[in-house]
Amino acid sequence: MNQQFCANCGKGSAKAVSTVSCGHKQPYDGNLIVVRTRHPWFGEQYTEYTLWDGESYQHNQYGAFCTRRCACDFAQAAVRAGYARTSS
Ligand SMILES: [Zn+2]
Repeated sequence: MNQQFCANCGKGSAKAVSTVSCGHKQPYDGNLIVVRTRHPWFGEQYTEYTLWDGESYQHNQYGAFCTRRCACDFAQAAVRAGYARTSS
């Protein structure tokens, strides 16, 4: 899935990532890209890696828009510009 860009603000959709837990401070040895490393402070002793394949992105949650707010702003602007839904 290619990255989508919001039709209103132009923001790119988020990376499609997954997470794995390894032993505490044990390095990740897979072939995905580590985009985030987290060492929780309390409880279980593990290291959590957020992984990305280098090319996959999520779909925008609201079709062509990143947020409901962007879809609404775009619709308001369309109405101000004279667009109206045609009724049949
Ligand atoms: Zn947007």
